Amino acid sequence: MLDFSFTEEQEDFKRTLKKLATEELLPSYTKWDKEKKLPRHLWKRLGDVGITGLRVPEQFGGSAADCVTTGIAAEEIGRGDFNLTYAVMLNALIGEIIATHASEELKEEFLPALASGEQIFGIAITEPDAGTDAAGIKTSAVDDGDVYVLNGEKSGISVATEADAFVVFAKTDPSLGNRGISAFLVSSRLDGVESSSYDDMGNVAISRGSVYFNDVRVPKNYLIGELHAGFKQVMNGFDLSRLLIGLQCVGAAVQSLDETIQHVKTRQSFGQPLATYQGVSFPIVTHYQQLEMLKWQAYRGLWLRDQGRSHTKEAATVKWLGPKYSQEAIHECLLLNGHYAYTKEMPLEQRLRDVIGLEIGDGTAQANQMVIAKQLIGKAYRSYQHSNQTEQVKG
Ligand SMILES: Cc1cc2nc3c(=O)[nH]c(=O)nc-3n(C[C@H](O)[C@H](O)[C@H](O)COP(=O)(O)OP(=O)(O)OC[C@H]3O[C@@H](n4cnc5c(N)ncnc54)[C@H](O)[C@@H]3O)c2cc1C
Repeated sequence: MLDFSFTEEQEDFKRTLKKLATEELLPSYTKWDKEKKLPRHLWKRLGDVGITGLRVPEQFGGSAADCVTTGIAAEEIGRGDFNLTYAVMLNALIGEIIATHASEELKEEFLPALASGEQIFGIAITEPDAGTDAAGIKTSAVDDGDVYVLNGEKSGISVATEADAFVVFAKTDPSLGNRGISAFLVSSRLDGVESSSYDDMGNVAISRGSVYFNDVRVPKNYLIGELHAGFKQVMNGFDLSRLLIGLQCVGAAVQSLDETIQHVKTRQSFGQPLATYQGVSFPIVTHYQQLEMLKWQAYRGLWLRDQGRSHTKEAATVKWLGPKYSQEAIHECLLLNGHYAYTKEMPLEQRLRDVIGLEIGDGTAQANQMVIAKQLIGKAYRSYQHSNQTEQVKG
C-alpha cells in the first residue's frame, strides 16, 4: 500500500499551526530581527501548544509525537517566524538525544523544562578549527574524580547566549579519533561557561555565537550515552534535524510564494495583473514544484525514520536541497514584489537572510553530498577520502 495522506489528527494540527504562525508569529517576525532579540515568550508560547516537546516522552512532559508530525510543525512554524522553527528543530534533536541516551536522573532534571519551552537548549559541536570535519574538535573533557573538566571553545552555536544548557561534544580520549568523543549535558550556569554573540547576516534573533568552557567541572553523571562513543551514538539525531531543517526552509519559501501569488494577482503593469504574464507565473510555478518535490522527500524521510528504516541519504538530500531551493524561491519572490520587497517593511529580505544560514548550519552542501556519495557509491568513494573523513562529516 502507498499512502501519501496525513491522518485527520495531523491535518488538524497543520491547520492550527498555520493559523498560529500566520496570525500570531508573522506580524512580529521582523521586529525581533530589528531588536536583535530572541522572543522567549513566544518560545514558551510554542511550549504551551506542545511544539517544544514533540519528541519528548509523555512522562517527561512531552507528547511523544512521531517524526512526520514534528515535520509538520517545522514547516508550518516556518511560515510565521523562521527563527522560531529552531524551537521545533533544536528541541526535537536535543529532546531525542536526552530521551534516548541520558540517565533517568538527567531526563527528570532537563526534559520537562525543555518540553514546556521554559528553558532553551543548544547543541555545541563546531569549533573555530573544526566545522565540516567535526571529529577534529579539540575541546577536552578530562577525568578528575567525580567530575570531567571541560576546556575549549565552540563556535557558530545557535542560541549561544540564550541557552540554559548545551549538549557539548568533547574529546575524552584524543588517541581514539572520532571514537574518543563523548557528549555531556552542561548547564550554562556552571562556573567557567561563558558566551558571546556574533553579528550574523541572518537568524539575528537566534543569538548565534561562541561558547567558552574554562575549567568547567561537569559532574560525571552528566555524561550522555557511553564514554568515548558520543559521536557515533548521537550523530544519528542529525538525520532528524536535517529533515526538519528542509521543512523549516520550505515553510518560509511556500509562505513567500503564497504572498507573492496574492501580489501578482492584484499588482498591474501595462494595464494587466502581473499574474497574466508567463514571465511572472512560470518562475512561481517552477519554485512551487521544486519545493513540493523536496517536501515529499522530507516527509518520506521522516516516515522512514518513524518505521525504524534507513533514511540517511534522504535526510542529507533534503538538508542539501531544502535551504537551496527555498532561498532561490524567496529570492525570486523578492524580485517579483519589486522594490518594496527589498526594504525592511516586508519580511522577504529577512527570510532570504535567515534561510541562507541553513545552507551552512548542520552541514554544508558538500558535507551532505559526501554523506550521499558514501551511501550510493560505498567503498570506492571512501577509498578517496583522507583517513576516516567521511565518518566525521558534520551534522
Ligand atoms: C545558521 C547556522 C547555524 C549553526 N548552528 C550550529 C549549532 O547549533 N551547533 C554547532 O555546533 N554548530 C552550528 N553551526 C556551525 C556549522 O555546523 C558549521 O559552520 C558547518 O558545519 C561548516 O563548518 P565551517 O563553518 O567551519 O566551514 P568549513 O568546514 O571550514 O567549510 C568551508 C567550506 O569548505 C567546504 N568543505 C569542507 N570540507 C570539504 C571537503 N572535504 N570537500 C568539499 N568541500 C569541503 C564546505 O562545504 C564549505 O563550503 C551553525 C552554522 C550556521 C551558519
